[in-house]
Amino acid sequence: MFPPPDRRPDARPEPTRRRAAPASQTAAVTMRLLLLSPHPDDIAWSLGGTVARLGAAGADLRVLTFFGRSRYAPGHPAHGEAETTRVRALEEETWARAAGVRLRRGDLPDASLRGYDDDTEMGAIPEDAVIGRAAAMLRRAVDEIRPDVVLAPLAVGGHVDHAAVRAAVTRIGLGDQARRGPTAHRRADLPAGGEPLHRVPVAVGGGGAALAASPSVGVVGETGPVRVRDTGDPPVDTRGLGQAGEPALFWYEDLPYAARGGPRPPGLPLVIDVEEVWSAKERGVRCFPSQEPDTVLPVLRGHADAVSGERVWAPGQAAADRLRRLVG
Ligand SMILES: [Zn+2]
Repeated sequence: MFPPPDRRPDARPEPTRRRAAPASQTAAVTMRLLLLSPHPDDIAWSLGGTVARLGAAGADLRVLTFFGRSRYAPGHPAHGEAETTRVRALEEETWARAAGVRLRRGDLPDASLRGYDDDTEMGAIPEDAVIGRAAAMLRRAVDEIRPDVVLAPLAVGGHVDHAAVRAAVTRIGLGDQARRGPTAHRRADLPAGGEPLHRVPVAVGGGGAALAASPSVGVVGETGPVRVRDTGDPPVDTRGLGQAGEPALFWYEDLPYAARGGPRPPGLPLVIDVEEVWSAKERGVRCFPSQEPDTVLPVLRGHADAVSGERVWAPGQAAADRLRRLVG
């Protein structure tokens, strides 16, 4: 589950920007984690404290952001897709530099560009073509980066883009949920604690009708560092779960949505204390002024108080123990 570095086929030199790890934490130096971020700000909001602790332990941190195109920037005067996309990319790059994270940005159009609004994007069933593209991005990233651990969003709250990423994880066969044979690759198999995502309680309205109102899916191509086919549902390698070389899959709680509660996720809960790194998390959140950090931060603070940190869900006890030792 956590192969030592000499078994990793493409083991590479440590990035020069990485901080030297204390001698007691040298095991962490070899750990490579891939964090899945539906939008540019999700890792800073949901896992900013965990990232700070992992970075301090010398972990190799990679982030794959799926929905790099947007016109949603309530805290910025930007208008239109091109300017908003640019602003949000710059924010994410600023955060990544500060956090010591290496970015890999997908170029999928987010919900704001697919016909959703603040109401309909919550609880909608993600479009199959979008899931397919996200799955292709993810498969390629996992094959090229070869992480030891993948941290994926639970899609708590049911934001359609987060749900698409969760479905992509299932579709390519990462994690225990997909050990159910060919039928696992159906949209109905989007579990959130065993419940299809469209049944997840949400704070605002919306529903499956948004799918029909989404006009552009399937014809919007991707450009940029992650390339996938620009039409149809790309072929996806559904090789499987638990095979040697596949990463351990952890789920993380999507913030600020998780602060409203939700169904019990799969796996074992693991709470990561972020008190000592809270200032680093807050600085990270403030790297995204277009997303109104002053509104978000009190919600993040409240959730951290409620669960005593940032909470992830491990695939098993051994994996949970390994991640806990890694963060020290
Ligand atoms: Zn998001």
